[in-house]
Amino acid sequence: LEAVEMEKGQVSLESFAARFTKEEVCAEYLFQIKWPNGFICPRCDHRHFYKTSTRRLPLFECARCHHQASLTVGTVMEGSRTSLQKWFIAFYLVSQPHSINAVQLMKKIQVTYKTAWSMLHKIRHALCEEDASVLLSGLIQVHDACCGKGFNSVNEKQPQRHLFLVGAAVNEENEPFYIKMKLLSKQYLEEWTVTRTGKEAFIRDHVRREAAAQVSFVTGIFKSRKPLIPVFNQAKRWIRETFRGLSPRHLQAYFDEFCFRFNGLRKEIPNFESLIQLCTEHEKILYRDLVQR
Ligand SMILES: [Zn+2]
Repeated sequence: LEAVEMEKGQVSLESFAARFTKEEVCAEYLFQIKWPNGFICPRCDHRHFYKTSTRRLPLFECARCHHQASLTVGTVMEGSRTSLQKWFIAFYLVSQPHSINAVQLMKKIQVTYKTAWSMLHKIRHALCEEDASVLLSGLIQVHDACCGKGFNSVNEKQPQRHLFLVGAAVNEENEPFYIKMKLLSKQYLEEWTVTRTGKEAFIRDHVRREAAAQVSFVTGIFKSRKPLIPVFNQAKRWIRETFRGLSPRHLQAYFDEFCFRFNGLRKEIPNFESLIQLCTEHEKILYRDLVQR
């Protein structure tokens, strides 16, 4: 039963933490994700290895070419001094319906604010990379939507306004099942209206080529003809409640996290597992790049 609950991501934090009480258990889990059919040397494809456990994390040395493979290289955890257990708790919390902000994570896993903040952003970066690799297909609707006035900190001198394109692959009942929300860069705006080049750029970046002819855009003032707006409003509400006082610089990352949640929950993918899988597939972003964004 526990395995089934775990798969659906419905397990409580207590029983999750009880399963991953040791670094070795987390390492074993990562091994299974990285090499589901047994070890394969990343350099020469050889299948035999020696395990070295002298370091904090095990290394897997190829018996033929002596390449040393690590579990965290090429993942969001690469180079991190934070334990796998703490990372796993972070993955678990982000995969839950309400997610978590850096202050809450800092308290939960006893790390500094800076560490918690950068862990969450590294996870979001992986979500963003994952989303970039998925192109919309089938029937596609795209609307423009705005988050602005009062959305950001009230202390800001100029009320910030951001225009997004909200695109979704919809089923025959017009219900969205895969959604993307992309901040429009200023070059695609003319008096707060998306330009034709802006629409073309969205299709080029986010739609499969064979589906390009089936994209229906509704932009401008036709609010009543934009069925994706309630989902966008839900995203705004969720972001406001989860990350108070967020910086506009990271707005796209928060919307990507919302979309991961929406898309994942809709497809009934086991959330924890899909999150940790994509966090092991996409490389980390450097702290330096995060703060300079
Ligand atoms: Zn090898």
